[in-house]
Amino acid sequence: MEQTITKIKPKNSGTKTLFENPILERLSRTHISVPITLYLVTSTLFGWYAFTYTDMSTPWIIFLFFAGMTVFSLVEYAVHRGVFHMETDTPTKAKIQYTFHGIHHEYPKDKTRLAMPPAAAIFVGGTLFVIMFLLMGEASYAFFPGFLVGYAGYLFVHFIVHAYAPPKNFFKKLWVNHAVHHYKSHDRNYGVSSPLWDYVFGTYMK
Ligand SMILES: [Zn+2]
Ligand SMILES: [Zn+2]
Repeated sequence: MEQTITKIKPKNSGTKTLFENPILERLSRTHISVPITLYLVTSTLFGWYAFTYTDMSTPWIIFLFFAGMTVFSLVEYAVHRGVFHMETDTPTKAKIQYTFHGIHHEYPKDKTRLAMPPAAAIFVGGTLFVIMFLLMGEASYAFFPGFLVGYAGYLFVHFIVHAYAPPKNFFKKLWVNHAVHHYKSHDRNYGVSSPLWDYVFGTYMK
């Protein structure tokens, strides 16, 4: 049975092979700039479409964009708490948890495993857009890019807090916030891009 996150001792360096199949193994890793660029370019295209080909007003587009970002940050919290840190009462759940997230808790400094691989992200992102379009119609052309920019922002914060030393200013809080999750208490501070939802749901720890 795979190690559950609660028992994992974080290693300071190194990496680990997740898949014996070399193609899958290669696909399980990504340089962080690849997904970030992909999401920002996709958002720009959607934003351009929203302004050019829909009748939505500028304030409404801006509102939907920020709504998308806010909903993303809630999804970030919920997926991290509910999926990545789910109860692992069966070997299958333990395996899923380890593949998706346990590996990151074991090797928090492995910079090639900080983002969902783009191949998977395109599939998940495409499915999400279809769901949003069915739910809200053309509003999704402004909401979806906000969601994607929220995701890119999360990836950026997650990358810098693991790859660089904390700065001596206000933003140091982000480093401390995520270090608590990794090194002090796995069931606290599920939010990475901000502690907002940890405050709301009572999982914030200083
Ligand atoms: Zn975690
Ligand atoms: Zn992390």
